[in-house]
Amino acid sequence: MVDPEDSVPRHDPLPLSVWVEAGREGRCLTYDGRLCALRGETLAPGDVVRVRLRGRPHQGLVVAAEPAGLPAMALEPVLERIEAAAVTPAWHALLAAVAQDCHTSPFQVLRTALPSGWLGRRTPSAGGERRRQVAVPRPERSAAGSDAVATLTPRQQALLAALRQSGPRPVAELEREGWSRALVQALAREGMITIEAQAPGSATPAGPLVPPAAALPPLTPAQADALAAMAADPQQREWLLWGVTGSGKTEVYLRSAAEHLAADRSVLLLTPEIGLVPQLLERSRRRFGENAVLAFHSGLTDSERTQVWRRCRRGAPLLVVGTRSAIFLPLPQLGLIVLDEEHDGSYKQESPMPCYHTATVARRRVQLEGCRLLLGSATPRLESWRRCVEPGGDLRLLQLPSRIEDRPLPRVLVVDMRGELADGHRRLLSRPLLDRLAGLPDRGEQAVVLVPRRGYSTFLSCRSCGEAVPCPHCDVSLTVHRRRDGSSWLRCHWCDHRQEVETRCGHCGSTAFRPFGAGTQRVVDQLALELEGLRLLRFDRDSTRGRDGHQRLLQCFADGEADVLVGTQMLAKGMDLPRVTLAAVLAADGQLHRPDLRAAEEALQLLLQLAGRAGRGERPGEVIVQTYSPEHRVIRHLVDGRYGRFLEDEAALRRQAGLVPFARACLLRFAGPQASVTASAATGIRTLLEPRLVGTGWQAIGPAPAPRSRIAGLSRWQLLLHGPDGSPLPLPPEADLRRSLPRAVHLTIDPDPLEL
Ligand code: ADP
Ligand code: ZN
Ligand code: ZN
Repeated sequence: MVDPEDSVPRHDPLPLSVWVEAGREGRCLTYDGRLCALRGETLAPGDVVRVRLRGRPHQGLVVAAEPAGLPAMALEPVLERIEAAAVTPAWHALLAAVAQDCHTSPFQVLRTALPSGWLGRRTPSAGGERRRQVAVPRPERSAAGSDAVATLTPRQQALLAALRQSGPRPVAELEREGWSRALVQALAREGMITIEAQAPGSATPAGPLVPPAAALPPLTPAQADALAAMAADPQQREWLLWGVTGSGKTEVYLRSAAEHLAADRSVLLLTPEIGLVPQLLERSRRRFGENAVLAFHSGLTDSERTQVWRRCRRGAPLLVVGTRSAIFLPLPQLGLIVLDEEHDGSYKQESPMPCYHTATVARRRVQLEGCRLLLGSATPRLESWRRCVEPGGDLRLLQLPSRIEDRPLPRVLVVDMRGELADGHRRLLSRPLLDRLAGLPDRGEQAVVLVPRRGYSTFLSCRSCGEAVPCPHCDVSLTVHRRRDGSSWLRCHWCDHRQEVETRCGHCGSTAFRPFGAGTQRVVDQLALELEGLRLLRFDRDSTRGRDGHQRLLQCFADGEADVLVGTQMLAKGMDLPRVTLAAVLAADGQLHRPDLRAAEEALQLLLQLAGRAGRGERPGEVIVQTYSPEHRVIRHLVDGRYGRFLEDEAALRRQAGLVPFARACLLRFAGPQASVTASAATGIRTLLEPRLVGTGWQAIGPAPAPRSRIAGLSRWQLLLHGPDGSPLPLPPEADLRRSLPRAVHLTIDPDPLEL
């Protein structure tokens, strides 16, 4: 099927290339004009075709001819065209730009961007599904006059009035509400409405996309100022909304979205965590109706994702609520991209390539499509903040400095665990925390407790030699999990290896083990022991499995079925739970002392976000932080609550040390079955790069074993490149790098690594 607005002018048969899904990296075949003419039809970039490669049919995407030399010449003609103009020229330009940013081929980007399975097999056709009928009221002026309305039966008049109020509605939906099909048809015969067939999955046209302003709550002065600033400066494309937790950022997103939808432009509303999609989706649907609002995330099936993809291409204005991969949706007339919780690491794809950051792709769309970008957070990244405050920065800052209704930010209580120990209290849970938790149920209040690890305990250690039980495939220790019957088993959180608790230490042969560190399971057990009657829920990757796992658990908690939610990092992210008055973190130290340049920034972001869960309703909130380092600067900034001050300190430190974002880093990761082969491959790449670095200000550091030097049986090495801020990567094309590697060694290039 060809959508008229997407079709590309057909050319004379020119040489074209086809990207083919074949092998790890895909292939690019070039066809001379004769081979890509199909029975008089001419192929064009953007078509999806079937071709033959080494005797086997493959599906591929037609692109403009790639520069000679690189791709292989095809010898056999293209077999058939599966879909014309599947990809628009504008979208193709986005692929090329992202490929360049991520130092990879457009084909790799395409594989990430398209719904999976799309290139690999025949795309599901819409032909077999039933088209649905939609009743569309005719505009009052062109419909038969008011005399004609007077001749309608009262029931017909009522239906007409309802349709004029609601806009077009599917006939089936009207039937469900008690309007008979005969009645709908009669109204059509009278010329008051038309009945239109609609392809499945497509939007009901028009409808009240944008609600009347009177129906909305009045904006706070800060919200109004932010929106006015954006309206006053249409040339300024990129904005950072820095608003403390609970300051009403979402309302700013929705109002801004409304303006774009009203002007027939689409909106992408992105969130870092799939668990946050339902909440945003619901708020958006309440505001803009069911039809104009879609969800796009990894929890959908391939065919659901393909359907959203197709609806985007139809071109009617939509609001899509999605996670990272939604940034590639081919929305024509894109007006606004919102990245909520812009500081969140989930916006970065670590692997496979392209290792893109959603904000970088969004900025490319801003440049190519002229849309706006709104980043929002209570704890913006240093990268973003810097682009607001430095001279020449291209991002403009908007602030929401206080919570809605001037609710206070929660008070922070730091519990020095050294003091607890000295007093002979050796438990996981400090006395102040136990006290506060015990008092919750009587007041009808709730708490969230953050524990950095899932499982029972972090590792199992031998009582006589102290060795931790390692994963047989990875360079990490196994985490202890508990079954319902109380027995333990071991699991690797990296490769998912599972095993029973060993009977003998692999090191010294001893048979006695002791669990160390606390995971979510152990904290729940401990709380149940210490505070009988407290109702507990666990919120981590193990307890939220399944399609709506997140949503179900959160709903239980929101409905008051538990007093305390014990969970991992995902607990801190963006949830709006008005009855939570206490947020606690048990082992803050693990976050504080990570050997990473962003450790302090990320720890403070996490703690402030966690604090943001408390006291969002009418009652004030409190935060309890258990730590062995109460004097750590992250804890100090948490207590004083001035994140801006922290950013200034952090910027000064990193600038002085010449670190990201005041310099540029690029990480080459190598993985191969044999340590020696992988290491020498990495050394080979360093030697290859050496001459390119001369005079560029770039340095190569390493190669060295990765922090976890073996994962899932693969040995991992890395080579870090460090260079001046804003300078180009000193790398040859990715394909050249790969060619100089042994086949077994896999290379990932990360042009903007989050973890160093
Ligand atoms: P944030 O995203 O900044 O953490 P939210 O957008 O979730 O904050 O807003 C917090 C709460 O305040 C929500 O329950 C929201 O409905 C409410 N809210 C937002 N704006 C207003 C307003 N102008 N007037 C009244 N309540 C508001
Ligand atoms: Zn031992
Ligand atoms: Zn493992």
